[in-house]
Amino acid sequence: MSTREQAVAAVETLVRYIEGDNGDFREGLERTPERVIESFDEIFSGYRGDAEQILKATFNGEGYDGIVLLKDIEFHSTCEHHLQPFNGSVHIAYIPIENIVGISKLARIVELHARRLQNQERITKSIADDLETFLAPLGCAVIIEAQHGCMRCRGVKKQNSVMTTSAMRGVFFDKSEARSELLQLIYGNK
Ligand code: ZN
Repeated sequence: MSTREQAVAAVETLVRYIEGDNGDFREGLERTPERVIESFDEIFSGYRGDAEQILKATFNGEGYDGIVLLKDIEFHSTCEHHLQPFNGSVHIAYIPIENIVGISKLARIVELHARRLQNQERITKSIADDLETFLAPLGCAVIIEAQHGCMRCRGVKKQNSVMTTSAMRGVFFDKSEARSELLQLIYGNK
């Protein structure tokens, strides 16, 4: 059996476990194992991507030395502890020294890391690492706000709690003025 066939069979086992082992694989469930694995191919497509591939095509910023911010990038990921979804938004900012990058690439770098088995802290750090490596900016920042399925539907069952993580690098770490300007751009005068 191929790994894929084994995965489909494993989901079938899980479905039998969930429904109780009565030997009856009813009509609505017939193609469920196959569909689950198909959805995994999409949800976990981040393993097939590569940050260098996404960020290597940079442009000269022609002396622009302000903040570049893409905010409210929605994302969906899967927590590695419970295989539950977590989702929310990512704000990505950098101040170029020389290199700028097409804005859609920032959204693609989010997808690259979100579409894996993850925790929120690692996604935050990985995006900041990639920006530092491939753009060599004066500073970069990544803020993620997310709600976690494993908190909402199991365990402590808190529906509306939002977890925030941030990575501040370079000038955003060193200078409170840069950090303040960034937070103002993201959150206004709240
Ligand atoms: Zn979890």
